[in-house]
Amino acid sequence: MQTIYTFVPSPEHHFPDHPEAPARLELLELAANPAAQPFPFSIARTADVTRVHPASMLERLQSACMDGPGLIDPAPTYVTAESYDAAMLAAGASLAATRAVVSGQARNAFAIVRPPGHHAEPLHPMGFCLLNNVAIAAQDALADGLERVMVVDYDAHHGNGTEKAFWTEARAGYFSTHQENIYPGSGSLQGAPHAKGRIADFPLPARSGDKCFVRIFDEVLAPLVRAFKPGLLLVSAGFDAHWSDPLTSLGLSTSGYYAISKKLVDLADELCNGRIVFVLEGGYDPRNVANGIQAVFAALSHTSPGTSSQPLNPTDPSPYPEPDISKRIEAFKNWHSLQ
Ligand SMILES: [Zn+2]
Repeated sequence: MQTIYTFVPSPEHHFPDHPEAPARLELLELAANPAAQPFPFSIARTADVTRVHPASMLERLQSACMDGPGLIDPAPTYVTAESYDAAMLAAGASLAATRAVVSGQARNAFAIVRPPGHHAEPLHPMGFCLLNNVAIAAQDALADGLERVMVVDYDAHHGNGTEKAFWTEARAGYFSTHQENIYPGSGSLQGAPHAKGRIADFPLPARSGDKCFVRIFDEVLAPLVRAFKPGLLLVSAGFDAHWSDPLTSLGLSTSGYYAISKKLVDLADELCNGRIVFVLEGGYDPRNVANGIQAVFAALSHTSPGTSSQPLNPTDPSPYPEPDISKRIEAFKNWHSLQ
C-alpha cells in the first residue's frame, strides 16, 4: 500500500493582501516526490458536510459567497464567489484521503487543501476557515464504522472549531498544541472539564520549539492517545508553528516537524493499524509550508529525511532559546490523570 495525497490549491479563492493566499502553496514540488502518489477525489456531498455543519449554515455561507467578495468575520475571513465550491472541494479531498486509508486502499495520506478548516465551528466560518475539513473527515470515518478517531492539531493556533464539533462526541478525541494568548483565544488547559482524557489543550509560551514539542509528544500526548485507543489518527497539520512564520511566535524547525510527524506515524502504526491522515491547516511562509509538507511525506513513507531523494533542509533551527515547560507538563498530567 502506498502513501497518497489529494491536492486542492484553490487559486480562485483569493483576497487582496490576505495571508491565506494561493501563494502559500507555490513552492510545493509534489510531482517530484516519489514517496507519495496523487489520489482522485470529488466535491463533498452536502450529506457528508452536514454531519458537522447544519444545512442552515451551509445556506448562509453559500449566500455570503454569492454576494462576495467580502469579509464574513473579523479574523478577517474572506469569501469570493468561488469560495463555496473551493471549500466543498477541500472537504471532498479530505474525505477522499480519509476513505482511502480507512478502506485500506492506501497506507496513509495527506490532504493538501485550502481553504483551511480547524477554526470553522459547526455554526460559524471563522479564522480564514469556511468548512471544518478534519472534523468532516472524522465524522465520516465514524459513520463508516470506526469506534473512535483522534485529531492531533499542531497548528500554532487552537482549533476551536474542531473542539466545538467534538464537544459532546464521545467517539472523537482532540489534542491541540498552540501558542497561548493569540487568536482565537480559546484552548486553555482547563477549557473542557467535562472531557478530560478526550479533549486536551496544551497552550504554549512563545518560542516553544523542537525540544518542547518532543517532550509534550513523548510525555503526555502518547500516553493520552494510547488510553483513548483511536482507530484512526487525523492530524491538523499547520506549519505556522515554524519559528519564522510571519503571523505567530512558536519555535519549531523543519526537523522538529519531521520528528513530531514521525512520532504520530509511529503511534498510528502501534494503535491504528497504520491509519493516519494529515490535513493541511495554516502556515504563511511558502518555504516553511513546502519544507513541512516534505517532512510529513518523509514521516509517512518511513524514509529518513537525510536520505530521501528530496532531503530536508536541516538549516533552519530556531535561533531563540526555548522556555522551560516542566510545570505545564505536570499540570497537564494532573488535569488528565496521566502517570
Ligand atoms: Zn494557524
